[in-house]
Amino acid sequence: MTSSHVKSICVFCGASLGADPAFKDAAEDLGARMAAQGIRLVFGAGHVGMMGTVADAVLAGGGEAVGVIPEFLHDRELAHQGLTELHVVDSMHTRKRMMFDLSDAFFVLPGGLGTLEEAFEVITWRQLGRHEKPIVLISTRDYWQPFADLVERVIEEDFAHGNPDDYFSIEPTPAAALTAAFPP
Ligand code: AMP
Repeated sequence: MTSSHVKSICVFCGASLGADPAFKDAAEDLGARMAAQGIRLVFGAGHVGMMGTVADAVLAGGGEAVGVIPEFLHDRELAHQGLTELHVVDSMHTRKRMMFDLSDAFFVLPGGLGTLEEAFEVITWRQLGRHEKPIVLISTRDYWQPFADLVERVIEEDFAHGNPDDYFSIEPTPAAALTAAFPP
């Protein structure tokens, strides 16, 4: 990475806001911090839920937000119309590939089944040695603890090797996640 390289973080998170306002607060906090640190957001382009909240916070802070959405979700997830760049692509697979290529790290805020799928994909790509980009789960209200426990069990039972932190890290807040991914 050269010093002129603009860092980009791909954020996976819910298309809903979840049951507790703390989740939305974390999305706003992450977006504001990324903008303040000049880190570009790469995300699924939806203007709904946690996704829309992160993007709005990045843009409100003067930062850049790049969205990638497949055509069939463009209306359902209300593609954000105020983004720095909006890429409308042909399929979910193209979306994920493009989000991967555009990003230096992956952050996972609380979210639903789609978020789990996206997180597991980059984790398994890392397990297979396809990349070494940091993956950080932001565990607001310990949201990701059951996920960490499951991966630990998988390793204990010898279905995977090493330690969970070979694959991802878990941090309680956006501030801690940013420090973990890009140490000062
Ligand atoms: P959710 O966490 O279920 O609210 O979904 C969050 C985001 O994940 C949404 O933008 C969905 O379009 C996306 N998503 C859902 N399923 C998948 C999938 N199989 N692959 C990639 N993204 C997905």
